Amino acid sequence: MISFEQALSELLSLAKQLESEMASIEDASGRILASDAIATHNQPPFDASAMDGYALQKSDKLPNKKLSVIGRVAAGGLFDGSINKNQAVRIFTGAPLPAGADSVLIQEDAEVNEDNIVINDNIDANDYIRKKGDDYKKGEVLLQRGKTLKSFDIALLASMNFPLVNVIRRPLVSIISTGDELVYPGNLPTNNQIVASNTFGLNSLVNKWGANGHILPISRDNKSSINKALDLAVPADLVITIGGASVGDHDYIKDVFRDKNITTSFYKVAMKPGKPILAGKNKDTIFIGLPGNPVSALVCAHLFIKPLIGKMLGTNELANIEKQAILLNDLPANGERKHFMRGFKKDGFIEIFSKQDSSLLSILQKANSLVIRAPNEPALKKGNQIGYFELD
Ligand code: AMP
Ligand code: MG
Repeated sequence: MISFEQALSELLSLAKQLESEMASIEDASGRILASDAIATHNQPPFDASAMDGYALQKSDKLPNKKLSVIGRVAAGGLFDGSINKNQAVRIFTGAPLPAGADSVLIQEDAEVNEDNIVINDNIDANDYIRKKGDDYKKGEVLLQRGKTLKSFDIALLASMNFPLVNVIRRPLVSIISTGDELVYPGNLPTNNQIVASNTFGLNSLVNKWGANGHILPISRDNKSSINKALDLAVPADLVITIGGASVGDHDYIKDVFRDKNITTSFYKVAMKPGKPILAGKNKDTIFIGLPGNPVSALVCAHLFIKPLIGKMLGTNELANIEKQAILLNDLPANGERKHFMRGFKKDGFIEIFSKQDSSLLSILQKANSLVIRAPNEPALKKGNQIGYFELD
């Protein structure tokens, strides 16, 4: 049995960053940027008016001053000429500032006559000019590779005039449930059957983490059925089996991995939940056998599969970062396996649920944190500080 840390590092060493591809900007939200986004123009590209009003020379912006209006320019247009002393050009928001002008008088500050304006007594001193390059300059790195693209990133990329964005390909993840007792949601289970659940939670997680998950038909508890499912699953970047990973008479995953020439990196990890977990690789596909208990499967997914997908996507945003909180309950001494206990954190305090059985999905559903207990850690008291990972 190997430690959790060793298992995670072995697993991550199997993965490499996937290739990049071009995505249309409409489809790039949530994707991982594959190369730095560098501005190819100044933004704004020209000095522009920030208000509707009159472009003029700042030295003319005086109370009661009369200026002759020599033209007009709206957004998308151009005033073909230049402004001199005692002159103004009617201007609208977004229009390029005419040559010779260095200020904008807002329209509320002018009294309009036929072909001239008279400036009011009280003037807004602001120049209302959006200077060329004020937002960003040509050559500036605005977004760095490895970033998950959010809506505001998309807006920025669009302003940079990128209709296509270079992103990392989504890892393809095949999910195989195994068990004679399982049916998928929507079927009528007989008395001795149960509905597969963690399969769908896992698919939801891998999709959330940026992969492209798909669920294969249920394999039954025999080698030939699991073998066929694995054949269907490849070529995926990652194949995850659920269940059948321990050492019972009906647990065949380990044998089938061997038959399929999957070089196993580890089998059994000194952790709770999730001791029977194995991982290996064949050609370019990584295989992970998760335990079947719903909580074990989903907790192990958080601990192992989330950072693994992060490595494939070339982002560190999916690494589990240990944080600290204050315990709201006493905890007994831990056993010899690292224990990830389900709890709820609020305002810096964390409550550990009294029921920690790895089959209890209703408890996992209420949890937002995994409290980390080191092997053989002594008992802890309410008020002690404790490390935890956030759950998605
Ligand atoms: P196993 O790891 O195959 O020994 O399964 C451990 C427990 O998890 C058994 O009670 C299984 O019925 C249950 N189980 C296995 N796979 C699933 C699944 N996909 N969804 C819900 N429960 C499962
Ligand atoms: Mg089973």
